[in-house]
Amino acid sequence: MSRRRQIYEGKAKILYEGPEPGTIIQYFKDDATAFNAEKKGTINGKGVINNRVSEHIFTLLGHIGIPSHFIRRLNMREQLVKQVEIVPIEVIVRNVAAGSLSKRLGIEEGTPLPHTLLEYCYKDDALGDPLVAEEHIACFGWATQEEMQDISAMAIRINDFMAGMFAGIGIKLVDFKLEFGRLFDGDFSRIILADEISPDGCRLWDINTNEKLDKDRFRRDLGGEAEAYQEVARRMGLFPEGGLSEVLDLDSERKKRGK
Ligand code: UDP
Repeated sequence: MSRRRQIYEGKAKILYEGPEPGTIIQYFKDDATAFNAEKKGTINGKGVINNRVSEHIFTLLGHIGIPSHFIRRLNMREQLVKQVEIVPIEVIVRNVAAGSLSKRLGIEEGTPLPHTLLEYCYKDDALGDPLVAEEHIACFGWATQEEMQDISAMAIRINDFMAGMFAGIGIKLVDFKLEFGRLFDGDFSRIILADEISPDGCRLWDINTNEKLDKDRFRRDLGGEAEAYQEVARRMGLFPEGGLSEVLDLDSERKKRGK
């Protein structure tokens, strides 16, 4: 990995310069953080699973016409993506009340929302990613109104698709976070889906028992986080019979050898 130039190291991913101009390699780590990185830990095999889950979802979204930065998966922990300028807004899509929405407005976790709610947070770790209104986004020029129209329309389509996909495997899509980027073509740019979609940035509950199958297991010290990520991957059919443990064994072997 030292052969490549590292561009950025985030909480869950490292970005390296890609093989061609305009490309980037996303490396998925096992590191997990919560509460604006106050809580730190690792979830064994998380990077391998998130790489696959995100590949799968971005590929399916591509089939329904959602443009994204995803090009192809390279190996267990890496994928090749298009370089974009990230819009500094986290888009939170909610179907059921949970987390910060429940806390902020006193709505009991698990209450279904009458319709899908979109919220926007300004991406700034030092400020703790504060919730902002579309007016702030326009006022400070973080995205144009036209870009916000594309972003909100895509977010709703992504939610419709994902909620159905997860329902089909017995999972309730409670809420999730999306990030978008600008893909430049000369002087013009268009908005495409970027970052990742994985149990790190989604709340996924078992449809019958409401058991949490996402990063809340880590955030709330519930235990069994690695197993929860594996369960999501298993239900998605991403690793054929027994394949997941083989892949994870191989991955930890490589890790031990420092590769
Ligand atoms: N989320 C995320 N990154 C963030 C903030 C939120 O991926 O920096 C995801 C989170 O996993 C959840 C959804 O966005 O699925 C809504 O999170 P919420 O605003 O409730 O914040 P939290 O309770 O996680 O602090």
